[in-house]
Amino acid sequence: MQYCSTRAGATSTERKRFCEILLEGLAPDGGLYMPVAYPQVSDATLARWRTVYHAQGYAELAFEILSLYIDDIPADDLRALCNKTYTAEVFGTGEIVPLRHVEDGLWIEALSNGPTLAFKDMAMQLLGNLFEYELTRRGETLNILGATSGDTGSAAEYAMRGKHGVRVFMTSPQGRMSPFQQAQMFSLQDDNIHNIAIHGVFDDCQDMVKAVSNDLEFKRRYKIGTVNSINWARLLAQVVYYFAGYIQATENNQQKVSFSVPSGNFGNVCAGHVARMMGLPIDKLVVATNENDVLDEFFRTGVYRVRGSADTHETSSPSMDISKASNFERFIFDLLGRDGARVKALFGDALSASGRFDLSGDARFADAANRYGFVSGKSTHADRLATIRATWERHGFLIDTHTADGLKVALEQRSPGTPMVVLETALPIKFAATIVEALGREPDRPAKFVGIEDLPKRVLTMPADVAALKALIAQTCAV
Ligand SMILES: *Cc1c(COP(=O)(O)O)cnc(C)c1O
Repeated sequence: MQYCSTRAGATSTERKRFCEILLEGLAPDGGLYMPVAYPQVSDATLARWRTVYHAQGYAELAFEILSLYIDDIPADDLRALCNKTYTAEVFGTGEIVPLRHVEDGLWIEALSNGPTLAFKDMAMQLLGNLFEYELTRRGETLNILGATSGDTGSAAEYAMRGKHGVRVFMTSPQGRMSPFQQAQMFSLQDDNIHNIAIHGVFDDCQDMVKAVSNDLEFKRRYKIGTVNSINWARLLAQVVYYFAGYIQATENNQQKVSFSVPSGNFGNVCAGHVARMMGLPIDKLVVATNENDVLDEFFRTGVYRVRGSADTHETSSPSMDISKASNFERFIFDLLGRDGARVKALFGDALSASGRFDLSGDARFADAANRYGFVSGKSTHADRLATIRATWERHGFLIDTHTADGLKVALEQRSPGTPMVVLETALPIKFAATIVEALGREPDRPAKFVGIEDLPKRVLTMPADVAALKALIAQTCAV
C-alpha cells in the first residue's frame, strides 16, 4: 500500500509507504496522508473475519485489517505487535470492545476500558508499540512534544511510557485539567515521560509547541515529533473496532448497521468512513457534535466554517470542543473525487483567506448522505444531562458526557430494522462533576483508580516561555 497527500491526489508520483508516514505529521505540502486506494473486503473475507474475531479474538482481526495497509513490516512482526497491544490485561475484557445492549436495536460499543478510560487508547496503545518497533529498527530516537487539555496527552503518555527510543514532553495549562486527569498524568513516574505545567491556558501551550516545531533547526537536532490525531496510523487502528462492532451486532453480512460517533476532530468517524469505503455494510454514519457544531453545520448546509476562539465554547463534553476538525480534509478529499488541487484550494487557500468554504452548490455534497451515509446532529448541555438521566433511569446504565451526545443524536437518526451502535468514547468517572449534576451521585470508580489523587506527582512548572521549554528539552536530551 502506498500513501499520497490529500493536496497532491492519488495520481501524484509523491508516494510513501506506511513506515515513512508513521513518524511524520502532515505531508510536506500541508495535506494529510491517505492510502491511494481502499482495499475492498469481499463477502467471503468478511465472513472469514467474523470467525477470526469470534475464534481468535480482536488482536488477530486487527492484524488482518492492518496488513492490508501495512506491507513494510513483516507479517509475523505485525501480528506480534497486535497481540502485544490488544490484551485483556490492558483493555479489561477478552472481547476488547464488547457491545452492551441498551434496548431493542440499540447498542453501546465499549471503547473506553484502556489505561486512560477513553477511546483514544484504542489507537494510541498500538501507536506506542509501532513507534518503538520502527525506531528500534532504524536505530533512532524521537522526542514527542505535545499540548493537552486532557484526554490526548494522557493517552499518549500511557502509550509511550517505558518505550525504548521515545521521550514525551507534554505541556498542559496549570490547574485547568480536572483533578482526576491531572492525577492520571502526573502520577506517572517513568523516566521518559515529562509533564510540564504551563502558567497559562491551553492556547499558550499549543503556541509554545508550534513555536518549537517551527524552529526547523531545533526540530531536526532534537528529533521532535508529535502524536496528534491526523496521524494515519491512529486512524487505521480505529477502523478495526468498526468491524468488531459490526460483527458483534449482526449474525450475517446481509445485515446493515449504523454507527453514532461523538465527534470533534473527525478522527473517529473518519475511521468509520474508511471501514464503509472498504465495503463494511454500514448504513449511516451519524456525526454527533456538542455546542461546537462545525461539523453538524457542514453536513446540514454544505458550509464549512472554522470558528474563532470567541466562538469556541467550553462545554461539559470538553474533548469535542474544537474550532476546526483536523481530519475533515480526508473526507472532503474523497467527496471531491480525490482531486488534490481542489482540496488544496479549499483547505490551503480558502480557509486561510476567509475561514470558510461552501460546497452547497456542489452536486457531490447534495449526494453525500446517499453515497457516504453521513448524517449529523447536535447535543447541548441540557441534552447531555437529560440523556445521562434517562439512560440511567430506564436502563441502569451510566454513560459519560461525550457518549451522551452520541446517544442523543443516535435516537434522532435511527431507522427501524437497522441496529444502531453508539461508540462510547470515555467512562463517566473522567467527567464526574457533570454526572453529579445529572444524577446527584458520583460515578463508580474502577478499582485501579481509587486514590490516584494521593499518589506522588511528577511535574515541572514553567512560564509560557518558548526558550525555557527548549532549554528543558536540550538539557534532558544531553543526559
Ligand atoms: C477525542 C475525543 C472525542 C472526539 O474524537 P475525534 O476523533 O476528535 O472526533 C470524543 N470523545 C472523547 C471522550 C474524546 O477523547
